Amino acid sequence: MTAGADRLSAPAVLMYHSISASTEPDPHRIRVHPDRLDRHLRLLRRFGLRGVSQTELLRAVDRGESAGLVGLTFDDGYADFLSTAVPVLARHGMTATVYVVAGHMGATNSWDTGPQFPIMTADQVRAAAAAGHEVGSHTTSHARLAGADPATVAAEVTDSRRVLEDVLQAEVPGFCYPYGAYDAAAAEAVRAAGYDNACVTGDYEPGDRFTLPRCYISPRDGRAVLLARLARHALRVRRPLPATAPAGAA
Ligand SMILES: [Zn+2]
Repeated sequence: MTAGADRLSAPAVLMYHSISASTEPDPHRIRVHPDRLDRHLRLLRRFGLRGVSQTELLRAVDRGESAGLVGLTFDDGYADFLSTAVPVLARHGMTATVYVVAGHMGATNSWDTGPQFPIMTADQVRAAAAAGHEVGSHTTSHARLAGADPATVAAEVTDSRRVLEDVLQAEVPGFCYPYGAYDAAAAEAVRAAGYDNACVTGDYEPGDRFTLPRCYISPRDGRAVLLARLARHALRVRRPLPATAPAGAA
């Protein structure tokens, strides 16, 4: 695999967190309603796009076969990924990557102040993988890696990978920086831990294999916003969107 120094002209990657119809307070704006996710995925299909996991997307990029693909990612590993997002993804024949905070399986997002939501148990993580989705690491404790001391960074990226590989009995190629907070040392630690790829938060710059950009999808983003994000990404990496949208798709 590529060492990751080159900027990747990769298709857009969408970033979701919780998918839930709950009306509880959502101060961190991490919850998208499943009907909204359904509309987003239907829109992708109208544009001839198929959502796939981050690692499947990069393997397609490596082969020069990524046209028509979009990455789909879900951060933190909320239990509603399995109960709510997976059925919507299945309806559209799409896969995704779920980035699990390995030290919080079966617990909650206690790194956040405010409302607590359940994180998948080890069994649920296995079920998500068995349903065809990629499980990636989001560190052990949702630690902010940028500027952290090297031993902490190494432990967070290495231990979380080992824990998830034990759960899955399979390799874990994908990593995601909590808060999107990364620096050169963190990216190097992720590469050294044996990951194949890592993604950040935000679609500001085309990144390399260990700093892949993503488009944050907020709770109220409708189809027009989604299209604008895809178009902006396409412009930045100079990849045209497929021009196959039928009339009235937007
Ligand atoms: Zn997170």
